[in-house]
Amino acid sequence: MPKVFIDVYVFIIGLCVGSFLNVCIYRLPAGRSIVRPASACGKCGTAIRWYDNLPIVSYIILRGRCRACGASFSIRYPLVELLTGLSALAVWQHMGGQPQSVIYFLFIAALLTITFIDIDHRIIPDSISLPGIPIGLLFCLFQLIPSMRWLDSLLGILCGGGSLFVVAWTYQLLTGKEGMGGGDIKLLAMIGAFIGWKGVLFTIMASSFIGTLVGVAVMLSTRQGMKLAVPFGPFLAMGAVLYLFFGPQLIGWYLNGFSR
Ligand SMILES: [Zn+2]
Repeated sequence: MPKVFIDVYVFIIGLCVGSFLNVCIYRLPAGRSIVRPASACGKCGTAIRWYDNLPIVSYIILRGRCRACGASFSIRYPLVELLTGLSALAVWQHMGGQPQSVIYFLFIAALLTITFIDIDHRIIPDSISLPGIPIGLLFCLFQLIPSMRWLDSLLGILCGGGSLFVVAWTYQLLTGKEGMGGGDIKLLAMIGAFIGWKGVLFTIMASSFIGTLVGVAVMLSTRQGMKLAVPFGPFLAMGAVLYLFFGPQLIGWYLNGFSR
């Protein structure tokens, strides 16, 4: 089969998973079932039929509106689908058809879900991060990720959970305020389980860097203090994904004094 067909197939699978992520992002924080009932319009309650629920395509055909009442749906639904589709394609291009490709795609899907829930509600759901910790470790124990030994995963969990805990504790000691939520700590422990202790260190550095840039930009544009509470989860997720695709190159580049 020509490679482009497989690419398209992988992309479409990604879009469908993205459609499911939208349901998770919308329902998990509310404590609702992600399986039932079927999706319905938030305004008029009309159930959305399958042909109006195709990822991206339906949004374009219906111009982002409910077929029954005309209420507009957020552009974020197709955006999440597109991001998930592109993630599937990127993992497939980068790692090829191995068990670890599926694992890392699901890992990115979990990070996407966490990112948007954190943006919406300023929480990182335990229902994703906590099970993610033993699941990541188990994958490594069963040697499903060739580049990761189980000890690496275990150290990643300890390093991720531990280091942020120390940062949060120090910050609180110095300022008397809570700077980082427990959700971030559990998320970084989960990230450690999947990408190991080197990945965790990279994630902390990269996310602090990106977070600072964005924080300053937000501060300058809104003229408000830093305590605007920009959620940190999305930056941790970005750092982890960056490591997954470019970690070794970026670390090499950094150690060589940005010379290449
Ligand atoms: Zn409607």
